[in-house]
Amino acid sequence: MSLLLTNAAIVSMDQSDADYEVQPNYFIAIEHGKITQIGAMQDISSMQKQSAENHKQIIDCQNRLITPGLIDSHTHLVFAGNRAKEFEQRLTGVPYETIAKQGGGILSTVNATRIATEQQLVELALKRLSALTADGVTTIEIKSGYGLTLEDELKMLCAAKQLEQHANIKVSTTLLAAHAVPPEYKGDADSYIRYVCDEIIPAAVDAKLVDAVDVFCEGIGFNLAQTKAVFEAALTHGLNIKGHTEQLSNLGGSELAATMGATSVDHIEYLDEQGVKALAKHGTVATLLPGAFYFLRETQYPPIELLRQYKVPMAIATDFNPGTSPIASLTMMMNMGCTLFRLTPEEALRGVTCNAATALGLQDSRGQIRVGYDADLAIWNIEHPSQLAYEVGIPRLYARIVGGNLCKVLCKELCKELSND
Ligand SMILES: [Zn+2]
Repeated sequence: MSLLLTNAAIVSMDQSDADYEVQPNYFIAIEHGKITQIGAMQDISSMQKQSAENHKQIIDCQNRLITPGLIDSHTHLVFAGNRAKEFEQRLTGVPYETIAKQGGGILSTVNATRIATEQQLVELALKRLSALTADGVTTIEIKSGYGLTLEDELKMLCAAKQLEQHANIKVSTTLLAAHAVPPEYKGDADSYIRYVCDEIIPAAVDAKLVDAVDVFCEGIGFNLAQTKAVFEAALTHGLNIKGHTEQLSNLGGSELAATMGATSVDHIEYLDEQGVKALAKHGTVATLLPGAFYFLRETQYPPIELLRQYKVPMAIATDFNPGTSPIASLTMMMNMGCTLFRLTPEEALRGVTCNAATALGLQDSRGQIRVGYDADLAIWNIEHPSQLAYEVGIPRLYARIVGGNLCKVLCKELCKELSND
């Protein structure tokens, strides 16, 4: 139950003044899934004597860099089918109307997801998840939103929760039944929203399958009144709220979400100063999704300078989904955040650690290397955290620790190395 990491170079992201500085020659003690001690190697013997338990497993990190485990705070990881054919059709000049008539777009994913069994959804998601965990992710948020019936939305959330049993990962689930109007309610979005509020949200709460509720607030999604109704229903049940807002136009969804206490608003390319002020006032995280921006070849940039000016915490996530961001790499998103949005590598790292934790309401237990926090860590074969945003495609992860558990696959390599020492 206990683990001692020695000779580590840590980047704590713990909100102290020097939290992005590499602190060499440190140790981290872990007991029962939590960080119990952090200190300089020179103090290890005196500090460890105070520890009641002897550490069963000791890992010499050989000066490798340790960051908080990465948090992907916005994904649509669970779905069936893929849209590669549609991607190809678009690039070979097939008009969008033709693709839509053939059943393309989000409804093709809805149809495939409805047909799939929970187990099939788990298997498909595990492949995608393996790419993210290889990239240092220890917590992932997963949304429903391709079922759009009570039964299929719960099936998606069950599949998302199941991933924790198959992989060394923590999952945070978000109900996104208000993702699109399903064919059964075509032309009657208000009735569908009533169904979401009165039936789907209570059922997801009763089944203990949901941590937060999300709405796609957009001209092609749901309007402000509908968004507000869903948020009110979620808050009545004690759930966190978050929004897909200001992606394609400025409807004021971010401001509405912030004033209602949202943990994050996501996309926000069209967010204006009034919206930014609302985020600052209510402590709402601005989540940037550069993968969707890239894939859709958007030209409207999120208001990074205003977010900095008003000190709004920024997160970065993959938005992994089949339609607009089929890219399963959070460090690639850090790179895109820097190249496309001109974030600094430090802002990018905050965006996938401490600020991503806040976006999920988990800021008191995750996203920082801090005594009392969850022992969720990523051990890297790098010297400085800027390398995470700088390099693309090079495997840099040495090991992951989730709730004090060393990642099984890399554990073997570690043990081999340890026995060679
Ligand atoms: Zn999304």
